[in-house]
Amino acid sequence: MARVNIPSFTLNDGTKIPALGYGTWLGMDEKFEFSAEGMPKMMDALSYAIDIGYRHIDTAHLYRVEPEVGKIIDKKIKDGVVKREDLFITTKVWHHFHREADVEVSVRGSLRRLNLDYVDLVLMHWPMSISQDGVDEKIDYLETWRGFESVLSKGLAKSIGVSNFNVEQMKRLLANCKVPPSTNQVEINLNLGQKELVDYCQANNVLIVAYSPFGTMVPSRSAPNSPEPKLNNPTMVAIGKKYGKSVTQVTLRYLYQRGIVSIPKTVTPSRVVENASIFDFELDKGDMETLAKFDNGFRTVRPFFWQDYQNYPFEKIPDKMEIPESLRIWKNGLNLDID
Ligand code: NDP
Repeated sequence: MARVNIPSFTLNDGTKIPALGYGTWLGMDEKFEFSAEGMPKMMDALSYAIDIGYRHIDTAHLYRVEPEVGKIIDKKIKDGVVKREDLFITTKVWHHFHREADVEVSVRGSLRRLNLDYVDLVLMHWPMSISQDGVDEKIDYLETWRGFESVLSKGLAKSIGVSNFNVEQMKRLLANCKVPPSTNQVEINLNLGQKELVDYCQANNVLIVAYSPFGTMVPSRSAPNSPEPKLNNPTMVAIGKKYGKSVTQVTLRYLYQRGIVSIPKTVTPSRVVENASIFDFELDKGDMETLAKFDNGFRTVRPFFWQDYQNYPFEKIPDKMEIPESLRIWKNGLNLDID
Protein backbone atom coordinates (compact mmCIF):
# COMPACT_ATOMS: atom_id res chain seq x y z
CA MET A 1 0.00 0.00 0.00
CA ALA A 2 1.15 3.57 -0.69
CA ARG A 3 2.39 5.55 2.33
CA VAL A 4 2.61 9.29 2.75
CA ASN A 5 4.79 11.13 5.19
CA ILE A 6 3.30 14.47 6.19
CA PRO A 7 5.41 16.90 8.28
CA SER A 8 3.94 19.24 10.90
CA PHE A 9 3.92 22.93 11.74
CA THR A 10 3.81 24.09 15.37
CA LEU A 11 0.98 26.39 16.49
CA ASN A 12 1.46 29.34 18.85
CA ASP A 13 0.15 27.20 21.74
CA GLY A 14 2.75 24.49 21.10
CA THR A 15 0.31 22.07 19.43
CA LYS A 16 1.61 20.32 16.31
CA ILE A 17 -0.59 20.45 13.20
CA PRO A 18 0.09 18.24 10.15
CA ALA A 19 0.91 20.43 7.15
CA LEU A 20 -1.73 18.74 5.01
CA GLY A 21 -5.18 17.57 6.02
CA TYR A 22 -8.19 15.82 4.53
CA GLY A 23 -11.09 18.22 3.75
CA THR A 24 -14.60 16.82 4.27
CA TRP A 25 -16.93 19.45 2.74
CA LEU A 26 -18.87 17.61 0.04
CA GLY A 27 -20.16 20.84 -1.45
CA MET A 28 -23.60 21.83 -2.69
CA ASP A 29 -25.34 21.45 -6.02
CA GLU A 30 -26.22 24.33 -8.33
CA LYS A 31 -29.46 24.87 -6.37
CA PHE A 32 -27.42 25.25 -3.17
CA GLU A 33 -28.84 21.98 -1.86
CA PHE A 34 -26.61 19.82 0.29
CA SER A 35 -26.21 16.39 -1.24
CA ALA A 36 -25.23 13.26 0.64
CA GLU A 37 -24.54 11.44 -2.63
CA GLY A 38 -20.75 11.60 -2.29
CA MET A 39 -20.78 10.42 1.32
CA PRO A 40 -20.04 6.68 0.85
CA LYS A 41 -17.11 7.53 -1.45
CA MET A 42 -15.86 10.10 1.03
CA MET A 43 -16.00 7.60 3.88
CA ASP A 44 -13.96 5.10 1.85
CA ALA A 45 -11.48 7.78 0.81
CA LEU A 46 -11.08 9.09 4.36
CA SER A 47 -10.57 5.56 5.64
CA TYR A 48 -7.91 5.04 2.98
CA ALA A 49 -6.31 8.40 3.80
CA ILE A 50 -5.84 7.37 7.43
CA ASP A 51 -4.51 3.96 6.35
CA ILE A 52 -1.77 5.56 4.25
CA GLY A 53 -0.72 8.19 6.79
CA TYR A 54 -3.08 11.20 6.85
CA ARG A 55 -3.58 12.35 10.44
CA HIS A 56 -5.31 15.73 10.02
CA ILE A 57 -9.04 15.87 9.22
CA ASP A 58 -10.94 19.10 8.63
CA THR A 59 -14.69 19.05 9.26
CA ALA A 60 -17.44 21.34 10.55
CA HIS A 61 -20.94 21.26 12.04
CA LEU A 62 -22.18 22.74 8.76
CA TYR A 63 -20.81 19.90 6.63
CA ARG A 64 -23.30 17.37 8.00
CA VAL A 65 -20.63 14.67 7.98
CA GLU A 66 -19.49 14.67 11.62
CA PRO A 67 -21.27 11.36 12.45
CA GLU A 68 -19.66 9.62 9.47
CA VAL A 69 -16.23 11.12 10.13
CA GLY A 70 -16.57 9.97 13.75
CA LYS A 71 -17.41 6.42 12.65
CA ILE A 72 -14.29 6.21 10.50
CA ILE A 73 -12.09 7.57 13.31
CA ASP A 74 -13.60 5.11 15.76
CA LYS A 75 -13.00 2.19 13.43
CA LYS A 76 -9.40 3.19 12.70
CA ILE A 77 -8.66 3.46 16.42
CA LYS A 78 -10.37 0.12 17.20
CA ASP A 79 -8.54 -1.57 14.32
CA GLY A 80 -5.23 -0.33 15.75
CA VAL A 81 -4.39 1.71 12.62
CA VAL A 82 -3.96 4.90 14.62
CA LYS A 83 -4.14 6.24 18.17
CA ARG A 84 -6.43 9.13 19.08
CA GLU A 85 -3.46 11.24 20.16
CA ASP A 86 -1.86 10.88 16.73
CA LEU A 87 -4.90 12.36 14.97
CA PHE A 88 -5.57 16.07 14.50
CA ILE A 89 -9.32 16.72 14.19
CA THR A 90 -10.66 20.19 13.41
CA THR A 91 -14.31 21.19 13.57
CA LYS A 92 -16.08 24.56 13.38
CA VAL A 93 -18.82 26.47 15.17
CA TRP A 94 -21.54 27.74 12.84
CA HIS A 95 -22.75 31.30 13.06
CA HIS A 96 -26.03 30.36 14.77
CA PHE A 97 -23.96 29.78 17.93
CA HIS A 98 -22.18 33.08 18.49
CA ARG A 99 -23.46 33.95 21.99
CA GLU A 100 -20.68 33.27 24.48
CA ALA A 101 -22.52 30.38 26.16
CA ASP A 102 -23.67 28.86 22.85
CA VAL A 103 -20.11 28.13 21.72
CA GLU A 104 -19.87 25.34 24.27
CA VAL A 105 -23.30 24.01 23.22
CA SER A 106 -22.06 23.83 19.63
CA VAL A 107 -18.72 22.21 20.51
CA ARG A 108 -20.40 19.62 22.75
CA GLY A 109 -22.79 18.82 19.88
CA SER A 110 -19.85 18.29 17.52
CA LEU A 111 -18.10 16.09 20.07
CA ARG A 112 -21.25 13.99 20.47
CA ARG A 113 -21.67 13.59 16.72
CA LEU A 114 -17.96 12.84 16.25
CA ASN A 115 -18.00 10.53 19.29
CA LEU A 116 -14.88 12.21 20.68
CA ASP A 117 -13.91 13.62 24.09
CA TYR A 118 -12.06 16.56 22.56
CA VAL A 119 -11.15 18.05 19.21
CA ASP A 120 -7.65 19.21 18.42
CA LEU A 121 -8.82 22.50 16.96
CA VAL A 122 -12.14 24.31 16.90
CA LEU A 123 -12.69 27.35 14.68
CA MET A 124 -15.20 30.16 14.54
CA HIS A 125 -16.45 29.35 11.03
CA TRP A 126 -17.31 32.97 10.07
CA PRO A 127 -17.13 36.32 11.90
CA MET A 128 -20.82 37.18 11.29
CA SER A 129 -23.60 36.01 13.64
CA ILE A 130 -26.79 34.98 11.86
CA SER A 131 -29.81 33.20 13.34
CA GLN A 132 -31.50 30.21 11.72
CA ASP A 133 -34.18 32.61 10.46
CA GLY A 134 -31.54 34.71 8.74
CA VAL A 135 -31.67 37.54 11.30
CA ASP A 136 -28.47 39.55 11.75
CA GLU A 137 -27.78 39.02 15.46
CA LYS A 138 -24.89 41.50 15.43
CA ILE A 139 -23.04 39.64 18.17
CA ASP A 140 -19.49 40.91 18.47
CA TYR A 141 -17.02 38.17 17.55
CA LEU A 142 -15.04 39.25 20.63
CA GLU A 143 -17.94 37.90 22.73
CA THR A 144 -17.95 34.70 20.69
CA TRP A 145 -14.20 34.41 21.20
CA ARG A 146 -14.65 34.45 24.97
CA GLY A 147 -16.79 31.33 24.48
CA PHE A 148 -13.88 29.78 22.57
CA GLU A 149 -11.46 30.62 25.41
CA SER A 150 -13.84 28.93 27.82
CA VAL A 151 -14.10 25.79 25.67
CA LEU A 152 -10.29 25.68 25.59
CA SER A 153 -10.00 26.00 29.36
CA LYS A 154 -12.50 23.14 29.79
CA GLY A 155 -10.36 20.87 27.62
CA LEU A 156 -13.03 20.36 24.95
CA ALA A 157 -10.50 21.57 22.37
CA LYS A 158 -6.71 21.56 22.47
CA SER A 159 -6.46 24.65 20.32
CA ILE A 160 -8.79 27.45 19.18
CA GLY A 161 -8.83 29.52 16.03
CA VAL A 162 -10.90 31.43 13.50
CA SER A 163 -11.87 31.14 9.88
CA ASN A 164 -12.69 33.72 7.21
CA PHE A 165 -11.34 36.63 9.28
CA ASN A 166 -9.90 39.55 7.31
CA VAL A 167 -6.84 41.58 8.37
CA GLU A 168 -8.82 44.23 10.30
CA GLN A 169 -10.76 41.56 12.17
CA MET A 170 -7.54 39.72 13.04
CA LYS A 171 -5.97 42.92 14.35
CA ARG A 172 -8.98 43.68 16.54
CA LEU A 173 -9.21 40.12 17.84
CA LEU A 174 -5.50 39.92 18.66
CA ALA A 175 -5.68 43.24 20.51
CA ASN A 176 -8.66 42.14 22.61
CA CYS A 177 -8.23 38.49 23.55
CA LYS A 178 -6.74 36.53 26.43
CA VAL A 179 -5.78 33.58 24.24
CA PRO A 180 -4.70 34.46 20.69
CA PRO A 181 -6.17 32.38 17.86
CA SER A 182 -3.74 29.68 16.76
CA THR A 183 -5.00 29.64 13.19
CA ASN A 184 -7.00 31.52 10.60
CA GLN A 185 -8.50 29.21 7.98
CA VAL A 186 -9.14 31.15 4.78
CA GLU A 187 -9.35 30.59 1.04
CA ILE A 188 -5.88 30.57 -0.47
CA ASN A 189 -4.90 29.25 -3.88
CA LEU A 190 -2.95 30.44 -6.91
CA ASN A 191 -5.57 33.05 -7.79
CA LEU A 192 -6.07 34.23 -4.23
CA GLY A 193 -2.66 34.65 -2.61
CA GLN A 194 -3.91 36.86 0.28
CA LYS A 195 -0.40 38.27 0.78
CA GLU A 196 -1.36 41.02 3.23
CA LEU A 197 -3.42 38.65 5.42
CA VAL A 198 -0.80 35.89 5.31
CA ASP A 199 2.03 38.33 6.13
CA TYR A 200 0.07 39.82 9.04
CA CYS A 201 -0.90 36.44 10.50
CA GLN A 202 2.56 34.98 10.10
CA ALA A 203 4.19 38.05 11.68
CA ASN A 204 1.83 37.58 14.62
CA ASN A 205 2.34 33.84 14.94
CA VAL A 206 -1.10 32.82 13.66
CA LEU A 207 -0.86 29.87 11.29
CA ILE A 208 -2.77 30.09 8.00
CA VAL A 209 -4.77 27.08 6.82
CA ALA A 210 -5.78 27.21 3.15
CA TYR A 211 -9.22 26.02 2.17
CA SER A 212 -10.18 25.49 -1.49
CA PRO A 213 -6.43 25.23 -2.24
CA PHE A 214 -7.10 24.46 -5.91
CA GLY A 215 -9.43 27.42 -6.44
CA THR A 216 -11.09 27.07 -9.84
CA MET A 217 -8.18 25.06 -11.25
CA VAL A 218 -10.09 21.76 -11.03
CA PRO A 219 -12.92 21.01 -13.49
CA SER A 220 -15.58 20.66 -10.76
CA ARG A 221 -14.91 24.28 -9.78
CA SER A 222 -14.05 26.00 -13.05
CA ALA A 223 -16.65 28.51 -14.23
CA PRO A 224 -16.74 29.92 -17.79
CA ASN A 225 -15.04 33.16 -16.70
CA SER A 226 -12.72 31.79 -14.05
CA PRO A 227 -9.07 32.72 -14.51
CA GLU A 228 -5.97 30.69 -15.29
CA PRO A 229 -4.28 28.49 -14.32
CA LYS A 230 -6.31 25.40 -15.17
CA LEU A 231 -4.87 21.88 -15.00
CA ASN A 232 -3.58 22.17 -18.59
CA ASN A 233 -2.00 25.61 -18.19
CA PRO A 234 1.32 25.42 -20.12
CA THR A 235 3.35 27.26 -17.45
CA MET A 236 2.04 24.95 -14.73
CA VAL A 237 2.51 21.83 -16.85
CA ALA A 238 6.13 22.86 -17.57
CA ILE A 239 6.88 23.43 -13.87
CA GLY A 240 5.30 20.09 -13.01
CA LYS A 241 7.37 18.34 -15.67
CA LYS A 242 10.57 19.86 -14.29
CA TYR A 243 10.00 18.21 -10.89
CA GLY A 244 8.15 15.10 -12.09
CA LYS A 245 5.00 16.27 -10.29
CA SER A 246 1.40 17.06 -11.27
CA VAL A 247 -0.01 20.58 -11.53
CA THR A 248 -2.04 20.02 -8.35
CA GLN A 249 1.05 18.83 -6.49
CA VAL A 250 2.97 21.94 -7.59
CA THR A 251 0.06 24.04 -6.28
CA LEU A 252 0.00 22.38 -2.85
CA ARG A 253 3.79 22.49 -2.59
CA TYR A 254 3.73 26.22 -3.35
CA LEU A 255 1.38 26.77 -0.40
CA TYR A 256 3.53 24.61 1.88
CA GLN A 257 6.64 26.60 0.98
CA ARG A 258 4.72 29.75 1.97
CA GLY A 259 4.30 28.22 5.44
CA ILE A 260 0.62 27.41 4.84
CA VAL A 261 -1.31 24.23 5.73
CA SER A 262 -3.63 22.89 2.99
CA ILE A 263 -6.76 20.79 3.43
CA PRO A 264 -7.65 19.55 -0.08
CA LYS A 265 -10.83 17.54 -0.45
CA THR A 266 -10.97 14.48 -2.66
CA VAL A 267 -13.08 11.34 -2.73
CA THR A 268 -10.74 9.77 -5.30
CA PRO A 269 -8.18 7.35 -3.77
CA SER A 270 -5.42 8.07 -6.33
CA ARG A 271 -5.75 11.80 -5.52
CA VAL A 272 -5.61 11.09 -1.80
CA VAL A 273 -2.08 9.77 -2.42
CA GLU A 274 -1.19 12.41 -5.02
CA ASN A 275 -2.17 15.38 -2.83
CA ALA A 276 0.02 14.27 0.05
CA SER A 277 3.03 13.33 -2.08
CA ILE A 278 4.49 16.83 -2.07
CA PHE A 279 7.10 16.64 0.66
CA ASP A 280 9.90 15.13 -1.41
CA PHE A 281 10.73 18.03 -3.72
CA GLU A 282 11.32 21.78 -3.48
CA LEU A 283 10.24 24.51 -5.88
CA ASP A 284 13.10 26.87 -6.62
CA LYS A 285 12.91 30.63 -6.10
CA GLY A 286 12.19 31.36 -9.77
CA ASP A 287 9.27 28.94 -9.85
CA MET A 288 7.89 30.35 -6.58
CA GLU A 289 7.96 33.80 -8.21
CA THR A 290 6.29 32.53 -11.38
CA LEU A 291 3.50 30.89 -9.36
CA ALA A 292 2.97 34.07 -7.31
CA LYS A 293 2.12 35.92 -10.54
CA PHE A 294 -1.18 34.01 -10.91
CA ASP A 295 -2.51 35.96 -7.91
CA ASN A 296 -5.29 38.24 -9.15
CA GLY A 297 -7.56 38.36 -6.11
CA PHE A 298 -10.20 36.05 -7.63
CA ARG A 299 -12.37 34.40 -4.95
CA THR A 300 -13.83 30.94 -5.46
CA VAL A 301 -15.91 31.14 -2.27
CA ARG A 302 -17.88 34.38 -2.29
CA PRO A 303 -21.07 34.06 -0.19
CA PHE A 304 -22.45 37.44 -1.20
CA PHE A 305 -25.88 36.52 0.23
CA TRP A 306 -24.31 37.42 3.61
CA GLN A 307 -22.66 40.61 2.45
CA ASP A 308 -25.09 42.98 4.18
CA TYR A 309 -24.60 41.25 7.53
CA GLN A 310 -22.38 42.86 10.16
CA ASN A 311 -18.77 41.66 10.04
CA TYR A 312 -19.01 40.12 6.55
CA PRO A 313 -15.28 39.85 5.85
CA PHE A 314 -14.99 40.30 2.08
CA GLU A 315 -15.50 43.17 -0.34
CA LYS A 316 -19.10 43.60 -1.48
CA ILE A 317 -20.30 43.02 -5.05
CA PRO A 318 -23.47 44.35 -6.77
CA ASP A 319 -25.27 40.94 -6.83
CA LYS A 320 -28.11 40.13 -4.44
CA MET A 321 -29.50 36.80 -3.32
CA GLU A 322 -31.46 35.31 -0.40
CA ILE A 323 -29.47 33.08 1.96
CA PRO A 324 -29.99 29.51 0.68
CA GLU A 325 -32.22 27.65 3.14
CA SER A 326 -29.70 24.80 3.32
CA LEU A 327 -27.20 27.19 4.96
CA ARG A 328 -29.71 28.15 7.63
CA ILE A 329 -31.47 24.94 8.50
CA TRP A 330 -30.03 21.49 8.27
CA LYS A 331 -30.05 18.05 9.71
CA ASN A 332 -26.82 16.23 10.27
CA GLY A 333 -25.60 12.92 8.95
CA LEU A 334 -25.70 10.71 5.90
CA ASN A 335 -29.46 10.35 6.06
CA LEU A 336 -29.84 13.99 7.09
CA ASP A 337 -31.86 12.81 10.06
CA ILE A 338 -29.64 13.88 12.98
CA ASP A 339 -29.59 17.39 14.45
P1 NDP B 1 -10.53 21.93 -3.05
O1 NDP B 1 -9.62 23.00 -3.55
O2 NDP B 1 -10.00 20.94 -2.07
O3 NDP B 1 -11.12 21.21 -4.32
C1 NDP B 1 -11.91 20.05 -4.27
C2 NDP B 1 -12.11 19.55 -5.70
O4 NDP B 1 -10.85 19.24 -6.28
C3 NDP B 1 -12.94 18.29 -5.79
O5 NDP B 1 -13.78 18.44 -6.92
C4 NDP B 1 -11.92 17.18 -6.03
O6 NDP B 1 -12.48 16.15 -6.81
C5 NDP B 1 -10.86 17.93 -6.81
N1 NDP B 1 -9.50 17.40 -6.60
C6 NDP B 1 -8.90 17.12 -5.41
N2 NDP B 1 -7.64 16.68 -5.61
C7 NDP B 1 -7.42 16.70 -6.96
C8 NDP B 1 -6.32 16.35 -7.78
N3 NDP B 1 -5.18 15.91 -7.25
N4 NDP B 1 -6.46 16.48 -9.12
C9 NDP B 1 -7.61 16.94 -9.67
N5 NDP B 1 -8.70 17.28 -8.93
C10 NDP B 1 -8.61 17.16 -7.59
O7 NDP B 1 -11.81 22.68 -2.48
P2 NDP B 1 -12.76 22.64 -1.19
O8 NDP B 1 -13.63 23.82 -1.34
O9 NDP B 1 -13.38 21.32 -1.00
O10 NDP B 1 -11.78 22.95 0.04
C11 NDP B 1 -11.10 21.94 0.75
C12 NDP B 1 -11.62 21.83 2.18
O11 NDP B 1 -11.52 23.08 2.84
C13 NDP B 1 -13.10 21.48 2.32
O12 NDP B 1 -13.37 20.11 2.08
C14 NDP B 1 -13.37 21.92 3.74
O13 NDP B 1 -12.88 20.94 4.66
C15 NDP B 1 -12.56 23.22 3.83
N6 NDP B 1 -13.34 24.44 3.52
C16 NDP B 1 -13.49 25.39 4.52
C17 NDP B 1 -14.20 26.55 4.30
C18 NDP B 1 -14.37 27.54 5.40
O14 NDP B 1 -15.22 28.43 5.29
N7 NDP B 1 -13.60 27.46 6.47
C19 NDP B 1 -14.83 26.84 2.99
C20 NDP B 1 -14.58 25.81 1.98
C21 NDP B 1 -13.86 24.68 2.26
P3 NDP B 1 -12.84 14.66 -6.27
O15 NDP B 1 -13.32 14.78 -4.86
O16 NDP B 1 -13.89 14.23 -7.21
O17 NDP B 1 -11.57 13.86 -6.39
